[in-house]
Amino acid sequence: MREEEFETSIKVLLVGNGAVGKSSMIQRYCKGVFTKDYKKTIGVDFLERQLQVHGEDVRLMLWDTAGQEEFDSITKSYYRGAHACVLAFSTTDRRSFEDVAKWQEKVAEECGDIAMVLIQNKIDLLEEAVVEASEVEELAKCLKLKLYRTSVKDDYNVNEVFLYLAERYLEILSKMESSQTHPSDTKTIGLFSAEATGLGVQAMANSEGEANNAEMRKKTRAKNDSQATESSFQLRPNKMRTGGKKNKLLCTVL
Ligand code: GDP
Ligand code: MG
Repeated sequence: MREEEFETSIKVLLVGNGAVGKSSMIQRYCKGVFTKDYKKTIGVDFLERQLQVHGEDVRLMLWDTAGQEEFDSITKSYYRGAHACVLAFSTTDRRSFEDVAKWQEKVAEECGDIAMVLIQNKIDLLEEAVVEASEVEELAKCLKLKLYRTSVKDDYNVNEVFLYLAERYLEILSKMESSQTHPSDTKTIGLFSAEATGLGVQAMANSEGEANNAEMRKKTRAKNDSQATESSFQLRPNKMRTGGKKNKLLCTVL
């Protein structure tokens, strides 16, 4: 198998109240466009973009919520196998700011302890701001999230957000690679390649995605020889990978 088949794929969710700019951000990042009256649904589950992180090829799959922004109306398949998440609110929508902690809790409940980032979008509308800079910083601190102020309209800080998330995810992945696993806590499954399954990167957008990413990177690096033994690899159970850790809601902003 060729090395490039083992590129790291990252499923990224964008959550937050309606109209904060999530769909616009996906369009901006993946297609380089901004439209004022952008339609609610983009018609596909996700858009993707490739980038390089410390010389490594990474593919980001950015999943849009298709406009169903109530906490419970988003389907499980949206969250399934996510590796990273953007929590977004708008400078001009106080309610969207107040709901950030609930969104974080929801994502943690569905996905465990994944890489997350907080964004305050529409920073170009600072004159109409309904949130104070200090309270936004306080929230970020309280939720232990890195904060980016963005303007999708002006293309300000959008690339930075996704680069940060990719880096965070790779950090988590490296820790996972170097952590020791007890043999009884692992199961062996057949190795598949993008070619063999015909599923391409989507094969990795599943609940075992991060284990696949970790294992595939390992195999790519150890490009030696043992062709005959490369018919299987090991996965750790989900619970171990997330550590069963739920982000507790430590602060409320009202
Ligand atoms: P979503 O519901 O979170 O997906 O939000 P949309 O992407 O549909 O954006 C809602 C509205 O906000 C649209 O009219 C966008 O053009 C507008 N919008 C998005 N980002 C920005 C921004 O950074 N600045 C300004 N001024 N408007 C924005
Ligand atoms: Mg949308």
